[in-house]
Amino acid sequence: MRYDYVIVGSGLFGAVFCHEAMRRGRRCLVLERRDGVGGNVRCEVRDGIPVHMYGAHIFHTSIRHVWEYVSAFVDFNGFVNSPVANYKGQLYNLPFNMNTFHEMWGVVTPAEAAAKIEEQRREAMARMAGEPRNLEEQAISLVGTDVYERLIKGYTEKQWGRKCTELPAFIIRRLPVRLTYDNNYFSDTYQGIPIGKDGRLDGYNALIEALIGDADVETGVDFLRERAHYESLAQHIVYTGAIDEYFGYELGELGYRGLRFELERVESENYQGVAAMNYTDSETPWTRIIEHRHFLRGKAESPVTWITREYPAEWHRGDEAYYPVNDDNNAALFAKYQEKAKREKNVIFGGRLGEYKYYDMDKVIDRALDVASGVE
Ligand SMILES: Cc1cc2nc3c(=O)[nH]c(=O)nc-3n(C[C@H](O)[C@H](O)[C@H](O)COP(=O)(O)OP(=O)(O)OC[C@H]3O[C@@H](n4cnc5c(N)ncnc54)[C@H](O)[C@@H]3O)c2cc1C
Repeated sequence: MRYDYVIVGSGLFGAVFCHEAMRRGRRCLVLERRDGVGGNVRCEVRDGIPVHMYGAHIFHTSIRHVWEYVSAFVDFNGFVNSPVANYKGQLYNLPFNMNTFHEMWGVVTPAEAAAKIEEQRREAMARMAGEPRNLEEQAISLVGTDVYERLIKGYTEKQWGRKCTELPAFIIRRLPVRLTYDNNYFSDTYQGIPIGKDGRLDGYNALIEALIGDADVETGVDFLRERAHYESLAQHIVYTGAIDEYFGYELGELGYRGLRFELERVESENYQGVAAMNYTDSETPWTRIIEHRHFLRGKAESPVTWITREYPAEWHRGDEAYYPVNDDNNAALFAKYQEKAKREKNVIFGGRLGEYKYYDMDKVIDRALDVASGVE
């Protein structure tokens, strides 16, 4: 056998596993269906600006050993995610915090904001008989009517393709409200966008390339189409594609939400002044616009800019699967696939598609490190 591991998928799970296996003296072949390595974090450099091709990715973590691990390969630029909501031309800071409440009601102190939210909650709860029966009632019972109407309703309905009154209440368990003037979306200890140790701006690509190192790589190949061939090359398979696809959907399809990205080059140095602007009304068809240069905090020198309009989409077999839909039916079906996966000899299922789980990057890296610690 030529390899110890054939690794299917070159996203963070596959790349970290590859690095760890190679470090332990194992021979690896990485297979990637797309034209380039990196999975969802892959960037393409356009006019000197790294464009996040599969959705904006902001690295954030409180797991110290993961931060130290990635920091050995790349530096981070200190980017802090502070998106802005655009509701019919009115702008609000996110996440919900004192800046948002000041913009919404003109309140200045935390006590005034808390009183306003409480007043709206009470009014709404008085109208509702008993427990919230759907997402709309749940959201209003947590943050009141104004925040719900302007910042949650339209955005959520676009994301799910259904009315909030038709969505179950459990989707929103908590809606954190910050009574401080703090626009930092994440509350993790470490955050940023990677840049290469040599200053290379497409830091996610630099990270993936450094992790894969001098392992053999084949791009533009689908493992499932040439399975017998690749299985014959290695002792073990590490599979990071979709678990239902691996089994030929024989028990049925798992549910996913899709996304459609519309990329545009704009003749301007600064289109919207912020990396992420969320459109929270129902009329605008996209959920957000990403302006990629702002991830670089002024380091992009291009006279033009690149933006991506992001549209939620139904998922159909063959499309890129973005988010797993975590409801009871999918959980039950995934459990059945997991049983089958356990019986597959010499195959490790990993990553967001292999484990049918929404994983942030840090969690996927942590999981890959953990799995790789058992490398034989
Ligand atoms: C839109 C979006 C935005 C996100 N933003 C953030 C963020 O801001 N911060 C954060 O921490 N996390 C974010 N995430 C999560 C992040 O993308 C994941 O944690 C990470 O990509 C998971 O890596 P992975 O290796 O499991 O999967 P992937 O990156 O999806 O890699 C799997 C790879 O396997 C390949 N593959 C699949 N099947 C086959 C096959 N049969 N043959 C060959 N190759 C195959 C695929 O082409 C893909 O390249 C976001 C996710 C999405 C969907």
